[in-house]
Amino acid sequence: MIIFKEANALARHLAGIRRNGDHIGFVPTMGALHQGHLSLIRQSRNRSAVTVASIFVNPTQFNDLSDFEKYPVTTATDIRLLTSEGTDILFLPSVAEIYPGGTKQGRDYDLGYLETILEGAHRPGHFQGVCQVVHRLLDIVAPDQLYLGQKDFQQCMVLKRLVQLLEMPVEVVIGETVREADGLAMSSRNLRLSPGERRNATAIYRSLQMIEQSIDDLPVGELQKRASQVLLENNFNKVDYIAIAEAETLRLLPPGEVVEKKRPLVALAAAFMGEVRLIDNLVLN
Ligand code: AMP
Repeated sequence: MIIFKEANALARHLAGIRRNGDHIGFVPTMGALHQGHLSLIRQSRNRSAVTVASIFVNPTQFNDLSDFEKYPVTTATDIRLLTSEGTDILFLPSVAEIYPGGTKQGRDYDLGYLETILEGAHRPGHFQGVCQVVHRLLDIVAPDQLYLGQKDFQQCMVLKRLVQLLEMPVEVVIGETVREADGLAMSSRNLRLSPGERRNATAIYRSLQMIEQSIDDLPVGELQKRASQVLLENNFNKVDYIAIAEAETLRLLPPGEVVEKKRPLVALAAAFMGEVRLIDNLVLN
């Protein structure tokens, strides 16, 4: 695996690969890698000739300074894992390399409705920061395929929109959520949970499964209430949202709605376990 720290050097190297006609697959990450990240690397290795991963904890997408400061960094282990998965290239830039004009400069991305709900509503500025960094990374890497995880369901939709806005010829490939044996979605933030919190954290997946099982029987509002109860009974201290939405548009279903069958829906949850904010989702039907 070749490690690049400079954007220009990486772009020059990739231009040579592109001249050979090889497709480039790109897996952007913030590091503290787990099997969820590595499943995306494997998908890229299967489909794209050359796999580029990046590790960059992007300051502009954190609306909470303490979350940024406490974000786990495990670079030496990450490099070992990426190497053993056969990753061709790792981009490991500094903040100055990604934001040579400073982090404040950037355009406003028109994300419309997507930015007004769920993660957009609870983390002001978050998706603008995500778009800012991914735009810069796409300019540098210019991949043919961009591999993203369904774990961040709304982020996948935002980044598909970004690719459209930028009119870039990038295929967005979405990988399934990889879970621990007890159902907890793998996340770098899980490293911040104490052993007791880690055990209780599985309730977020159980609350979504409860929605899946009862979706035909109860109105949306009742499902939300019961899912919230599951979280609070298991020591989640704050529920940001439990929502049921149309999977294709993320239009939120109103509390009074009783769901008709066979419609692609997704249940989404965000809640705090102590200081750690966890998100998860489950596609229904
Ligand atoms: P992150 O490092 O959290 O920014 O995530 C980098 C990429 O890995 C994003 O596309 C995430 O959606 C994806 N990802 C994170 N956790 C998982 C998981 N448990 N399963 C599949 N993909 C994941």
